[in-house]
Parts: sequence; C-alpha cells; structure tokens
Amino acid sequence: SMAQERIKWTVHVEVRLKPRAAARFETIRSLVSSYIASFERIAIPSTLQGWNDIPELSSSVEHIVVCESPCPSPSLTLDQMSLQIHVYQPSQSDSFEEFSNSAGSVGDDDNTMAASVCELPNRGWEGLWDSLIYADEIKFKLLDYIHATLVFSDANVDFNLISWNRVVLLHGPPGTGKTSLCRALAQKLSIRLSHRYSHARLLEINSHSLFSRWFSESGKLVQRLFNSITELVDDEDGFVVVLIDEVESLTAARAGAMAGTEPSDGLRVVNALLTQLDKLKHRKNVLIMSTSNLVKAIDCAFVDRADIVQYVDLPSREAIYEILRTCVCEIMQKGILSLTGVPTLKQVQMYELSTKTDQTSKSSVDAHQRSKNVGLRLLALAAQCRAQGMSGRALRRLPVIAMARFIGVGNVLFSSSSTSAVKGPKPVPSSQ
Ligand code: ADP
Repeated sequence: SMAQERIKWTVHVEVRLKPRAAARFETIRSLVSSYIASFERIAIPSTLQGWNDIPELSSSVEHIVVCESPCPSPSLTLDQMSLQIHVYQPSQSDSFEEFSNSAGSVGDDDNTMAASVCELPNRGWEGLWDSLIYADEIKFKLLDYIHATLVFSDANVDFNLISWNRVVLLHGPPGTGKTSLCRALAQKLSIRLSHRYSHARLLEINSHSLFSRWFSESGKLVQRLFNSITELVDDEDGFVVVLIDEVESLTAARAGAMAGTEPSDGLRVVNALLTQLDKLKHRKNVLIMSTSNLVKAIDCAFVDRADIVQYVDLPSREAIYEILRTCVCEIMQKGILSLTGVPTLKQVQMYELSTKTDQTSKSSVDAHQRSKNVGLRLLALAAQCRAQGMSGRALRRLPVIAMARFIGVGNVLFSSSSTSAVKGPKPVPSSQ
C-alpha cells in the first residue's frame, strides 16, 4: 500500500568480527553499508551471504545478520529501511568474580561470591537472544523501553516532571528464560549502543549469597556492592547492566520483618538496596534488570520502582513448536539425525488447516510430504508439552532424554572421547 511505502523501518545489522581481527570498525561499517546497497531487497531477518568475495570483509568478519524487526513484511527494499550497522568484537574472557562475601572478615570460610562481572559483548552470550522464543513481543518491548529512556535522556527531560528508575522486573515460573533474557538483552544493548559507549559490562548479583552468614553484615555488603557499581557507572564511556537474580530473596525480608518473623537486619538490607537504587536512577549509563519466580514475595517498594514489570509465562504451543524445531534442526545440522526439512511455524499452521479438509495425500511420500508429516507430528508433540505445562528449560533438555530412550541404555557403545561425563537423565521429563 502507499502508506506502507512511505514508512521507513529501522533495521539493525550486526557485524561480528573474527577474534583478533585488526580492522577498523569504521572501515568495516562503510564496506558493509556499500555491500548492502548492492541488493534490491533484504530478507528480514536473515544472515547475509556473499560478502566473502570482498577481501577486507572476509579477512575480518565472521558473521553478518540482519536482525528481526517489527515490520510486517518478510523483506524490504533499500528505500524502505533506515539501516543501522553495528560492528562488534565479542570479548573472549569469562566472567570474573568479585565482592567475595568473606572479604575483610578474617577466619570466615564462607566463600560464596556476591557478584560477578563480565565484559560485553561476550562470546559466551552469542546466539542467546535468538534462542529465546516468546509468543508475545517481550523482546521488542524491552528494546523499545531502553530506546525510549535514551530518547528522554538525550533530550535532557526534567526529572521532576518525567522520571523513571531504570529498573526492569521479569517474573514468572522457573525455567521460562528470565535470567537468560536479561543476559541476552545486556548483550544486545552492548552491541546496539556501541556507537555511544566504548565498552559495556554485565554485573550479576547473587542475591542468596548477599545474605551473609553473619546476617548483620548484609547491609554493609549491599553498600559495598553498590559502591563498586557506582565506581563502574562513574566511567561514563561504559554502559553497565546490573542483574539481580531472584530478587525476592533480597527483598522478602521487609515483609517478614513487619510480620515479626525476621530480624530487623533484613529490613536494613532492603532499605540499603532501595536507597542505592534511587541514587542510580539519575545515571544515564546503567540498567538494572531483576528476576523473580515469586512476585508476591517481593517487597512492594521494590516492585513499585520497576518501570516495567513483565510477566514471563510458560511457552505457548506455538512457541514450543519453535523451540522444538530449533532443537531438531540443530540435531540434524550436527549430523546426529539425517536431514529433513522441518517446516516453519507459519508453514505448519497452514498444513494443519489443510489436513483438516484434505486427507488424500497420504500415499505419496515425497520429500515435501515427509517434511509436512514431521511438522505435524512436532506440532502434536508441542500440544502435549503445552498440556503438561513444560518450561523452556525442560523443553531444551527433551532431545537428550528422547535420544537416551531411542538409543536404549543397554545398547550404547560410548566413544571414549566425547561422552565420558554423561549423567543419567531423569527417565521422565519433569514438568518444569
Ligand atoms: P529462569 O531464569 O526463568 O529460571 P533460565 O533463564 O535459567 O530461566 O532458562 C534456562 C534455559 O531454558 C535457557 O537458557 C533456555 O535454553 C531455556 N529456555 C527457557 N525459556 C525459553 C524460551 N521461551 N525459549 C527458548 N528457550 C527457553
């Protein structure tokens, strides 16, 4: 339609460099830009191919993806999009741990760590964002929220008139990908914001271990932790994402204190946390993400501070289909199963409609029919998983359990190299 042609969609292109590639980001960006300009249409989302013929790109670039976008059509012409090309080189290093619980208290053998920090973007989180599948647009919603806060920050809106807290809370049943989504979002942001911040870090707070064995120390521990966070945030060239996992364990204390069941130290911890959060809200380069399995247990003063309180539900039948499809595709790609086409969700939904009226094609087992059968069986399996209320985590381990059953425990001849540490999976997948 005419209206649609006038809209320009923002399309993000992510260019991942090879480890130790020495090219300048700016050079790569302009090369990629002119390469894309040679296309008439671009599929969205897609992995860009063919750039290997350009020596400067093939020597430095590992991967170019055109990211998913809320635009309704599967492809766009160049004049329908406003391209944003992000060049990045993920860090190879693992996270390093900091803020040991026992630091400073002599003779304390409780060595649990209160927090760990990792450099972003990180190779360890590559692919995580795409692997998370939700029926509603949670992922876009979160990105849009960040974008909105940046627009307001850049315009220097008066915080007395419009204010926000830079706190996001994801809650829902265990295993629905909340923690992973926080990490994936942190990774995404570090890539998308690389033109404004030269580096980014993810700091994960282990809520359980913040509660010192010497409970009265916890308030001080929170204080110390936030002092360190403030130090990170003071570097205004860097973006900091703070992840507070299972935040209810930190903030349940106040409710307990009021009910008279917890010592008042718990109250001190929550108050320390809230005070620190309030200080951080004035800083542009920080985002606080928190997760909880039990939103009712969280201190309402904390929930009230969250700009977005997002419920993350168990996956729908459609989301389950996509999760299982990615599992099956991976198994085939790695050569464990022989290759067959597995239909996309849209395709299988069409097959589902057509098989309800047309039952004639069962005799011919050509490749197309085979793929159709695989899709319909996978969809039936997805419906069964949905009925059991399986979580994303349970779904992602289903292939291992299915494989174990298929092989049969007595018949396995493990090759010594790859399977020395196989743990026996539970015989029946649990429902979470
Ligand atoms: P939570 O924090 O909600 O308990 P996690 O982030 O620990 O969940 O999820 C564990 C793993 O389960 C994820 O890394 C992912 O592999 C899988 N998973 C969970 N939810 C989904 C989903 N919606 N789509 C795809 N994979 C999922």
